[in-house]
Amino acid sequence: MPSILNADLHCHSVVSDGTLTPEELAARAHANDVELWALTDHDEIGGQHRALAAARANGLRYLTGVEISITFAARTVHIVGLGFDPDNAALMQGLRDTRSGRSERAKEMAAQLAQVGIKGAYEGALTFVGNPELISRTHFARFLVESGVCKDTSEVFRKYLIEGKPGFVEHRWATLADAVKWITGAGGIAVIAHPARYKFTPNEEFALFSEFKAHGGRGVEVVTGSHTAAEYVTYADMAREFGLAASRGSDFHSPEESHTDLGTLPFLPGQLTPVWELVADRIQ
Ligand code: AMP
Ligand code: MN
Ligand code: MN
Ligand code: MN
Repeated sequence: MPSILNADLHCHSVVSDGTLTPEELAARAHANDVELWALTDHDEIGGQHRALAAARANGLRYLTGVEISITFAARTVHIVGLGFDPDNAALMQGLRDTRSGRSERAKEMAAQLAQVGIKGAYEGALTFVGNPELISRTHFARFLVESGVCKDTSEVFRKYLIEGKPGFVEHRWATLADAVKWITGAGGIAVIAHPARYKFTPNEEFALFSEFKAHGGRGVEVVTGSHTAAEYVTYADMAREFGLAASRGSDFHSPEESHTDLGTLPFLPGQLTPVWELVADRIQ
């Protein structure tokens, strides 16, 4: 596999908080000339067999994928896993545990929203959920847009769903060590997702990268729909500094909501090891 490759190794289906099925995503990836694809639903690998079959039907190379929510330095961080065995029991159990607090959290979010006059948000969010074990803030955002409270999902997050806002509920996710262990234990590689999103201080970011590396993490997203062009450069440098391979993915969720479509980002900058080199034997 060459370094210059239209790889899209980060996106979401209805199995988590995307609006398209794995089959619709595969067709869209093919239409956009993606050559290597991974579906990376949040905390859930229930869509992997469907995604692989759909990739084959569309002539796409495929890597298994997941995006695990962890808590690091009191913030939520996302770790992508690529190229693992989707039937690995420890990985499946770890993800089940990670998903388990979501319903209670969603009920608390709804109770807080009710206090600021937004009624029925739990039931409303549920009408957007594709997987009963995976109710996320995105589903609340869609309900608040549909009910006219906000004009789009970014306004909902800004006004209601982030730290310090009335619908935000603190949540304890998996640990960094566990997420990396589940992924590598299943034969995959762990990748830090969209590092610029966390707004860590330089010290916190150094700690994240160092501990990630020490636990056996292998890659970092450099070119992602969540980064600016300047951030591609920053994290290409970080990848080199920490000896991490580089990944590329749109983080596509929905034709209506996502500003970056599948397979449309710039290629990885030169002189980086692409993550697909590390899992070349697991490409299907
Ligand atoms: P959760 O895992 O329930 O905390 O939801 C996190 C998801 O919310 C992310 O994966 C994104 O899809 C979405 N999200 C987070 N922040 C924003 C934002 N500022 N605007 C739009 N969507 C967001
Ligand atoms: Mn999401
Ligand atoms: Mn993410
Ligand atoms: Mn994502």
